[in-house]
Amino acid sequence: DGSVVMRVRVAPLGVSHVLVLAEDHTHARRVEEVRRDFVANVSHELKTPVGGISLLAEAVLDAKEDPEAVTRFAERIRVESTRLGRLVQEIVDLSRLQVADTLHEPQLVDIGAVVLEAVDRVRVAAEAKSIDLGLATERDLRVFGDGELLVTAVANLLTNAINYSEARTKVGIGARKVGETVEIAVTDQGQGIPAAEQERIFERFYRVDAARSRATGGTGLGLAIVKHVCANHGGEVTVWSEEGRGSTFTMRLPVAAPEVADDGDPAADP
Ligand code: ADP
Repeated sequence: DGSVVMRVRVAPLGVSHVLVLAEDHTHARRVEEVRRDFVANVSHELKTPVGGISLLAEAVLDAKEDPEAVTRFAERIRVESTRLGRLVQEIVDLSRLQVADTLHEPQLVDIGAVVLEAVDRVRVAAEAKSIDLGLATERDLRVFGDGELLVTAVANLLTNAINYSEARTKVGIGARKVGETVEIAVTDQGQGIPAAEQERIFERFYRVDAARSRATGGTGLGLAIVKHVCANHGGEVTVWSEEGRGSTFTMRLPVAAPEVADDGDPAADP
């Protein structure tokens, strides 16, 4: 009778369906957990600038007769709303990065160009503190990935290096190939990070000194974004730091295989 044949045909189909469903389920649960956590943090973080802006607006209304005070409060409203705008942008960036494990449409990315673009984005902030930006990048370093995300990550490291350093110090950025890895390192001579905190600074909204972070316009998301960008590129970010001496953040990304296979010189490779 044909029922055995039927079962044989149906079984593999059934199994594959079960697998697909199980995978979807785990993914959905993870997304849901990340989302719930994130929403709790985010609402807390948003309340601070929103509350500040509304208090300042009331202060403006109360100070109508005092044009100088109005200007002062208005300036603070501007600063707070800029920070709020950046916070919202970073929340969107990070939630996208957290949900996706992989990159959308990876391309061959030139690391020299990434570094130059990131340096361009922080040049004004560095000049405002007379910080000397030193650049040392090897040529022809390529990774497979998303150039825009990599620029954001490097710019975040540079922004921190500038924010957590005194005026007239040096910040260095270098990129080089070490084995099959591209290393991008940002070094500062700033305040450093206590050893006990070095693990935690990559968590979203974790700050060693919340007041200092807020004073420099920080959102507490910069390093979480760097960490996720590196992970999505199959790499990692690490920190070396000593309090009072400075910090070095190093991104390590797999080097992209050269377009033209390197035949090599047999004599050079015994
Ligand atoms: P933030 O917006 O607060 O800078 P980040 O996620 O970029 O957020 O960094 C988290 C915390 O790590 C900062 O608040 C600061 O305490 C510490 N940190 C990051 N980079 C540096 C650095 N280069 N030197 C000293 N501390 C740093």
